[in-house]
Amino acid sequence: MIPLSVDEIASLVGGKVFGDGSVTVSAPAVIDGREARPGGLFVAFAGEHTDGHAYAPQAAEAGAVAVLGSRPTALPTVVVDDAQEALQRLAAHVITMLRDRLTVVAITGSQGKTSTKDMMEAVLSSAAPTVATSGSFNNELGVPLTMLRTEATTRFLVLEMGARHIGDIADLTALVAPDIAVVTNVGRAHLGEFGSREAIATAKSELVRGLAVGGSAVLHADDPRVLAMGDLTAGPVLAFGAGERASVRVGDLALDRLGRPSFTLQHEPPPERGGKVVVTLPLVGAHWALNAAAAAAAGLAAGVALEQAAAALSTTSISKWRMELRTLSNGAMLLDDSYNANPESTKAGLDALASIEAGRRIAVLGEMLELGETSRDAHHEIGTYAATKADLVVTVGGAAADIADGAGRRAVALSDNAAAIEWLRTHLAPGDAVLLKASRGARLDQVAAALL
Ligand code: ATP
Ligand code: MG
Repeated sequence: MIPLSVDEIASLVGGKVFGDGSVTVSAPAVIDGREARPGGLFVAFAGEHTDGHAYAPQAAEAGAVAVLGSRPTALPTVVVDDAQEALQRLAAHVITMLRDRLTVVAITGSQGKTSTKDMMEAVLSSAAPTVATSGSFNNELGVPLTMLRTEATTRFLVLEMGARHIGDIADLTALVAPDIAVVTNVGRAHLGEFGSREAIATAKSELVRGLAVGGSAVLHADDPRVLAMGDLTAGPVLAFGAGERASVRVGDLALDRLGRPSFTLQHEPPPERGGKVVVTLPLVGAHWALNAAAAAAAGLAAGVALEQAAAALSTTSISKWRMELRTLSNGAMLLDDSYNANPESTKAGLDALASIEAGRRIAVLGEMLELGETSRDAHHEIGTYAATKADLVVTVGGAAADIADGAGRRAVALSDNAAAIEWLRTHLAPGDAVLLKASRGARLDQVAAALL
């Protein structure tokens, strides 16, 4: 966070100062008092159930020096009508001040945002100081809070942007118009909420529409709905993918015994920036190659050479619970992908499971949430797919029974996580590989924790 006095913050957001306005805020803003840092700002929301202002003393104890809220607190406070809107305004102003020296990269898509964001952070930070979204902090609060972490020395700001409704991303690009917009894919995540895949495409396309003048779009060439977004901008388009239409292209893909991909990345026209590099990822699953191509393409758009991107990608690590490969004490392998699930990411996880050299391959699958009317069919479809990739398909929870139906003879239907833990403890043998995959709500990470 660039240092600002309480008075300056008040004038930027149109608020009123209570207490000492000369106090300087120099550390990032937080909305959880416990996470405050020395010199930081605590943003207090008056929620329906809890009143954030009550946590100002806690924030002060952790080091916060000022509060942004809707009523005075014991700390110097900027009082506004709407703290969320004020937080967004503050973030937008701060970025405007830093804009000449900053390249802003934003990413959206149905899956792969966080992991691609992690890869972009690796690529860009190899070239210059970079601030990136932590975890999946990608909404109307996470985006401005991330923006406020920018320092005067920051050169790249990487923002994950999520959407649950049409207009969500337009609201976020109104805070900061990206110089580089990356769209990974249009899948079925939150289909229930959006109603149709076309509506999902429209929501994601708001990122490209929201580009700064002359900004670059980095689009997935193999996903027609994403590639079509190139028509929405007059600026440069870099298309990544494995197919014909990609200008940053994945080729010669091979997987090692643990399903970790090696591949070439080639940048085709313009020839003066062309080149071909080899990348080996320390991650399980062929789909990471595409995310790496997206990150390399974003790097090219930001001026990072392909060779440098490849070196950064080869040592990259991604956020927790995404295809984490661990070995259990009994010698079985656990592929923990319990972070979240939708049909496309589940297929990618199953493909990865199939690519591991193992005794038996066991897919432990729970419910995929928020699929709306298509939910039953989607679960059935995943079961059928899973039966072609795994020796056993263990389904967890009542709603996952449709997966078991689809998987037929290979299915073992269990009622809950406790039953899954029990079953796995009894049946796993050395050399088996187990994939854990479900929506966050199913909490399969608890199964992983119990086994580990
Ligand atoms: P969220 O909307 O929950 O924030 P996200 O878009 O940030 O999700 P990640 O957290 O990167 O996505 O990955 C979520 C899941 O999608 C993981 O299981 C991961 O293995 C899978 N995944 C990542 N990239 C791809 C891809 N290119 N194709 C298919 N699945 C993918
Ligand atoms: Mg995410």
